[in-house]
Amino acid sequence: MQRLRKVLVVGGGTAGWLTACYLAKAVNAANPASVQVHLVESDRIGLIGFGESTFPSIRGTLSAIGLDERRFLVETSATYKQGIRFRHWVRPPGTPGKEHFFHPFSVPSQRPGGPELLPYWLLGTAPAGLGFADAVTMQSLVVDRSRAPKRARDPDYQGPMNHAYQFDAGRFAMLLAEHGQQALGIQRHVATVERAVLDDGGNIAKLVTAELGELEADLYVDCTGLRASLIGEALHSPYRSCGDVLFTDRAVAMQAPYPRPDAPIPSFTLCTAQESGWIWDIGLQQRRGVGYVYSSRHTDATRAEEMFRRYLGHAADGQDVTHIRFDNGYRPEAWRGNCVAVGLAGGFMEPLESTGIALVELAAYLLTHLLPGDRDEMGRAARHFNAMMSARYERIVDFIKMHYCLSQRRDSAFWIDNADPAGIPQSLQDKLAQWRHRPPHRLDFVGDLEMFLVSSWQYMLYGMEFETDLEPARSAYPRGAEASREFAMIRQAAMQALDDLPDHRALVERLCGEY
Ligand code: FAD
Repeated sequence: MQRLRKVLVVGGGTAGWLTACYLAKAVNAANPASVQVHLVESDRIGLIGFGESTFPSIRGTLSAIGLDERRFLVETSATYKQGIRFRHWVRPPGTPGKEHFFHPFSVPSQRPGGPELLPYWLLGTAPAGLGFADAVTMQSLVVDRSRAPKRARDPDYQGPMNHAYQFDAGRFAMLLAEHGQQALGIQRHVATVERAVLDDGGNIAKLVTAELGELEADLYVDCTGLRASLIGEALHSPYRSCGDVLFTDRAVAMQAPYPRPDAPIPSFTLCTAQESGWIWDIGLQQRRGVGYVYSSRHTDATRAEEMFRRYLGHAADGQDVTHIRFDNGYRPEAWRGNCVAVGLAGGFMEPLESTGIALVELAAYLLTHLLPGDRDEMGRAARHFNAMMSARYERIVDFIKMHYCLSQRRDSAFWIDNADPAGIPQSLQDKLAQWRHRPPHRLDFVGDLEMFLVSSWQYMLYGMEFETDLEPARSAYPRGAEASREFAMIRQAAMQALDDLPDHRALVERLCGEY
């Protein structure tokens, strides 16, 4: 038996530091002497610098590694995120009909013993004109009125409304680095890995750096970002592109100022559909993070930047942009031999539903859970890890594609191509065909492999004005009067929540002031 004693994380971006922190915390809790966690990062190669909008799972992760919420807010300029507002996704601007809808993080209200509300919403029991998300949660109203998801007195990472955060990605990695070294005992090295030396079995024997000579470990975690220095360059684990389904492959981004220092901060990410993609707009404490994700098959960088600047108006004056290329996809064998890739080295899904950091969190949990005590057991852990991660990626592809293919937009080649069944995975086509006659149910999904709850599928499906014809089954839903009362109670509770919850900017400033 060869005991696993040392893990070396290569790369100091969000993926590297988050994985190292999570791993170190778990190892320390179990037996501090058992495994050492080291991290090496280059001071010559920068971070990707994006990754500002997150998933509610981040709260559990930050709490698990022992970060104080106020410190996190101060150090990363973080704000609260309660969901995503989709604008111009159903139809182009200037067309009659709703301009936007909300994908909230809170699940639909469900009173114990009460009826499930979705079928009744489909049968027209909710007040006329109320979208699904607006009818079944209070969260849309809370964000419309600029309210925060929690109060100052709520414990760290908790509050009445489900939420995540938006933050400065570079500062987040720096905070994790500080916390990881000071509180969790991670040993940091600054060096650029020049190459990996493989042993006869194809495993990594050591890494060669210019600054520190050779570095050795039992397990190497490749967090070198899009370069994938270990898993790609050294081990040649293939990359499976999903570009035939998800067409976006470029982004142009900018940091934009607020019009005035006390401008309201939206507690949601705004995603506005464009002729060849979509624009993210994220409010941090002192600035906005904005970017246009587009398909290079459907537009070019010059036109994309022009459209992007047009969206920003005067906020873009004098501001530089960054252009970036990517390829939606993943490595089915992200764990090969004694190397496991986490973050962009393992895969990338366009940021429409903020899955990047959430996938890092998931990989870090899985790795920690599967970490074998014995190096010879690595193969079994790798097979499990690869199966779990690949399944997640595939399901994210379906979920994101659904955003595009349900659109009624036909105003550009990008939207026309997205509606073409040839680019829609069979697994998604099967789901959509069934949901024409019945709404999505949790049994449509394999619980542990899902990134998105059934409610997220429902919010997106009906936000995109998908039609499910429940009329033939109307008699199976006799609790209309109860459902109607329930819809009214949700509106009433929402009005009370508005009194109870503070203004979003005011809460962030107060919590930061208390640190
Ligand atoms: P990087 O940040 O690139 O870090 C790589 C690290 O490896 C750096 O420290 C570098 O110095 C080091 N390194 C590289 N090579 C070597 C070497 N040879 N030796 C030593 N060190 C090395 N995710 C979200 O969750 N939400 C979002 O809103 C979001 N938006 C995005 C928008 C865009 C346009 C893009 C491209 C991505 C977005 N993501 C988002 C994804 C998110 O940015 C990443 O998942 C996350 O930042 C993790 O990046 P990383 O740590 O893998 O890579």
